[in-house]
Amino acid sequence: MKAARYHSTGGPDVLVEDDIPEPKPVEGEALVRVIACGVNRIDVWARGGRYKTTLPHILGTDIAGEVVSLGPGAEGPEKGTKVLVRPILSDGTCIYCRRGRPNLCVNRGFVGVATDGGYAELVRVPAASLLPLDGVDAEVAAALPVNFATVWNALVSKASVGEQDTVLVWGAAGGLGHAAVQVAKHRGAKVIAAVGDARKGDFVKALGADYVVDSRSRDFVEQVRSITEGLGASVVFDHVGGDTWTASIDCLARGGRMVVLGLTSGPKSEVDVRRVYQDELEILGAYGQTSEDLKAVLQLAKTGRLSPSIFRKLPLSSAKEAHEIIESREVQGKILLLP
Ligand SMILES: [Zn+2]
Repeated sequence: MKAARYHSTGGPDVLVEDDIPEPKPVEGEALVRVIACGVNRIDVWARGGRYKTTLPHILGTDIAGEVVSLGPGAEGPEKGTKVLVRPILSDGTCIYCRRGRPNLCVNRGFVGVATDGGYAELVRVPAASLLPLDGVDAEVAAALPVNFATVWNALVSKASVGEQDTVLVWGAAGGLGHAAVQVAKHRGAKVIAAVGDARKGDFVKALGADYVVDSRSRDFVEQVRSITEGLGASVVFDHVGGDTWTASIDCLARGGRMVVLGLTSGPKSEVDVRRVYQDELEILGAYGQTSEDLKAVLQLAKTGRLSPSIFRKLPLSSAKEAHEIIESREVQGKILLLP
């Protein structure tokens, strides 16, 4: 089968298309023919060496496809079923798994990082990780797990966003950001979209953003305060990290929630602790997604209430180009590889 993989970590150039033997599912696994695989920043980081992977390695965490066969003892959807793969791998037995939080599993990992992923014609995954697509188009489904289900965990399961909220979304045009705008709007909130490039303003407005603010403007915090009549945003969606934390805290209204789900900048920041307790700010971490988060977004995608914006569809041989687009920060929405 064909697979896009890297034999050593490095820049996008290390991604090459190889012809390799078909994988065989072992105990508890399913073999899935990949129809579409989302490209994510986690892929770029793994390829660059930030996450340890066995070499040569096949990336790809967002996988939609069709069941080809089940390995010994595997229980899952039957051959021919179109499925989505839950990206978090968990042992199913630790205290967090037993509490329904596989994303906190002591032995957690991601499909496509801890194991070979979906930048290939075939992939083997735990049969228990498969969710039937139930009529959702595979290309739409492949855009859901890492972006929409993670956002659902952050904004709904953690921050309980509702119609009374004004949500500030950093990086609103990207994979996570464009999902956050849609999920917040679906929940009835007002959305302030922060974009680093004025050309992305029309894109986020079309997704439903009520206001667009240039995240590079010097008076960014004042603009957010002005939009919110001096109060600040009741929820801040921060996936940037060290570069935005201080502004995120400054943008929060009293009693506001900041939900943090990763970083694309440095890991450290200074926070004035007085604001956190005097204004009763809540800082909520969100990591990955549960099956419930995934089921929720799949159901909403089925009825068109959440609709991933597909920026580019590329063949496996263009995995390098897909990574270059992600790194250029030019992306608006989601990039898919179609094996
Ligand atoms: Zn566990």
